[in-house]
Amino acid sequence: MVGEILSGLGAFKSMLDAAKSLKDMNDTAIRNAAVIDLSQKIIDAQQEQMALMEQMRTLEGEMARLRTWDTEKQRYELKSLGEGVFGYGVKADAQGNDPPHSICPDCYHGGAKSILQQVTRHPGMCYVLLCQKCGWEAYTVGGWHPEHGGKSGSRRRS
Ligand SMILES: [Zn+2]
Repeated sequence: MVGEILSGLGAFKSMLDAAKSLKDMNDTAIRNAAVIDLSQKIIDAQQEQMALMEQMRTLEGEMARLRTWDTEKQRYELKSLGEGVFGYGVKADAQGNDPPHSICPDCYHGGAKSILQQVTRHPGMCYVLLCQKCGWEAYTVGGWHPEHGGKSGSRRRS
């Protein structure tokens, strides 16, 4: 992004030089061609500036999201969810009005919050914790069966 900004500054210097040289041009055809060239350079520079501003807005949004996540993740701690399964559970003193819940460990480490949902799979009446966002899943009661889909022992749906 810094390279793009420096390149943009170089383009403005070039346009300024071209604008200064217009007053010394006596030939109308050459001057008109220079004006058209300069106009195109200005349009290109404006488009580059708009693209950079869009990138900046995107980065600002990402920074705000990460700042929010830094605060939000303090509400959670690594907890056993049963049968050797670990996830992040809401701390008792940070629960507020929320019911007890756990969030996906993969999404947590990826900088996002996704509440784990329990689903029941048949055959076997198996209880599975599932992340709707990334597909992480863990059996807390029962075990994988081919009719459940995915792969045996996988922590992710495939
Ligand atoms: Zn997830």
